[in-house]
Amino acid sequence: MSPTSAPRVLVVPCLQDNYAYLVVGSEGRAVVVDPSEAAAVERALAAEGLRLTGVLCTHHHWDHVGGVPELRERHDGLAVFAHRADAARIGGPTDALDDGDRLAIAGLEFEALHVPGHTLGAVAWLGGGAVFTGDTLFLAGCGRLFEGPASMMHASLERLADLTPETRVYCGHEYTLSNLRFAAAMEPANEAVAAKRAWAEAERDAGRPTVPSTIAEERRTNPFLRCAEPSLRARFSEPTVTDVFAELRAAKDVFR
Ligand SMILES: [Zn+2]
Repeated sequence: MSPTSAPRVLVVPCLQDNYAYLVVGSEGRAVVVDPSEAAAVERALAAEGLRLTGVLCTHHHWDHVGGVPELRERHDGLAVFAHRADAARIGGPTDALDDGDRLAIAGLEFEALHVPGHTLGAVAWLGGGAVFTGDTLFLAGCGRLFEGPASMMHASLERLADLTPETRVYCGHEYTLSNLRFAAAMEPANEAVAAKRAWAEAERDAGRPTVPSTIAEERRTNPFLRCAEPSLRARFSEPTVTDVFAELRAAKDVFR
C-alpha cells in the first residue's frame, strides 16, 4: 500500500489508558488493533457504520486482547491475527504469523514485524504508512522487559527506528506525558523533548490523544531510540549502546 492511500485510523480509548485502533478498509469494512474491551470497539463501529472483519493482536496481555472472545462471538468469521509465540495465550488466533509474514484483509495490507522483549511474541503491525506498536514502542518511551532481556528489546526498538521516518506510530497506551517527563530528566538540553512536552500537555488538557507520532519524531524525542547519543552515553558511561539502553530502562523502572 502506498503512503498516498493511507487508510483512516480511528483511536478508540479503552480501559484506563489503553488505545485500540480501528483501521478503515474498503466497502465499509474495518480491522481493530488490540481490542482490550469489546464494548468500546462496538460503539466506535456503530458510530461509523463499519463492519469488523479482522483483529490484529500486538501481544497476549489481557489489556490488549481482552475483548477478542466477545468480538468473535458477535462477528461471524472474524479473522484474528497474532504472532505464533503468543498464539496459545490469545486463545488461538485464526492466523498465527511469523516475522515478515504479510496479510490482506478488508482491502488493507499489513506486515508482521516480530519485536520481542515486552513479550516473546510481541509484533508490530506495519501497513498503510502506519505502524501499530502495542507495548513495545510508546511515544517517548518503551514497554517493560517482561519476557526478554534488554538486548532483545533494544534490537526490536532499533528495528522500529529504522522504518521510514514518516511512518505514523500508534502505540498501546497514553503514557506520553509521564514518558516525556522522564525523557526531559535524561536529556535536559533536548529542545525537541521540551517542545513535545508542552504540546502534549495542551493536547491532554483538551482531552485529545497524543497519538499518532512518527518514527522521525520518536528519534528526536524518545530516549530509548537515542541510546547512541553522546548526551545519554555520558550519563551512564556504559561501553555499548545496548548497555546504555539497559541502564536507561532500569532508570525508568524506578523513576518517579
Ligand atoms: Zn503489555
